[in-house]
Amino acid sequence: MQVVEDVLAMAVWSAARRRAGQTIGFVPTMGALHEGHLALVDQALGTCDAVVASVFVNPLQFNNPEDLRKYPRQPDQDRALLESRGCHTLFLPTKEGIYDGSIPKSYDLAGLDEVLEGPSRPGHFQGVVNVVERLFHYTRPDQALFGEKDRQQLAVIRLIAQRERWPEQIIGCPTVRASDGLALSSRNARLTPEERAAAPALYRSLCAVEHRAFEHSVGRCRQAGMEILASEPMVQLDYLEIAHPLTLQPLADWGSLDEASVLIAASFGNVRLIDNLTLRR
Ligand code: AMP
Repeated sequence: MQVVEDVLAMAVWSAARRRAGQTIGFVPTMGALHEGHLALVDQALGTCDAVVASVFVNPLQFNNPEDLRKYPRQPDQDRALLESRGCHTLFLPTKEGIYDGSIPKSYDLAGLDEVLEGPSRPGHFQGVVNVVERLFHYTRPDQALFGEKDRQQLAVIRLIAQRERWPEQIIGCPTVRASDGLALSSRNARLTPEERAAAPALYRSLCAVEHRAFEHSVGRCRQAGMEILASEPMVQLDYLEIAHPLTLQPLADWGSLDEASVLIAASFGNVRLIDNLTLRR
């Protein structure tokens, strides 16, 4: 596996692949890789000729400097994992290389940053779009793969890709879960054994909503999810919402929708987790 740190060297790699008629798949990450990230790499390897994964802890998407400082970093392990999966190139840009002193752009996110994660993470989605735009600029992929685990992030990137006419195809990939249903996340490692045992309540709560979706009212479905959480005292719920699949605005009723999302955020001690499911009629 080739490791590329310089942004211009990345652009050269990408141009050479394209000249050779190869398709490029790109998996952006912030490292501390687990099977959820690696599933994106596997999928890219299955559909593209050349696959590049990036590891870049993007300062722009952290609204809390302490969070940025504490973000897990395990470069040697990340490199070994990507290599073992057959990833062709690892892009490890620096902050200076990516942003080059430029002022971040401000995007109209059409209210997507005002719901769910938005209020507790001001500026987060602007930071995400800025880094994705910069990473695409150097990697120039045909396909970019993102996890449905970060459902709101995926909605934001899809919106901007369409609006800005980005040529990259944005692909959403299913959430990888532990056998008890907990969505894999680098934050899970920070849970105490008791918190880890309690955390699958989030998935059970989403499943309780999914089980009744489109058959009972939105309010009744949400209530069913809340009842699961009420039986788990370690959960500090931030939100459990049933939302429109594109705008992510909370739904009052199902209307004529064939699809919706149920999204949850909750803390266990100091660890805040998010998860979601797509509901289909
Ligand atoms: P991150 O390093 O947290 O920025 O995540 C990098 C990419 O991996 C994002 O597109 C995430 O949505 C995706 N991802 C993280 N956890 C999972 C998971 N459990 N299943 C699938 N994709 C995931």
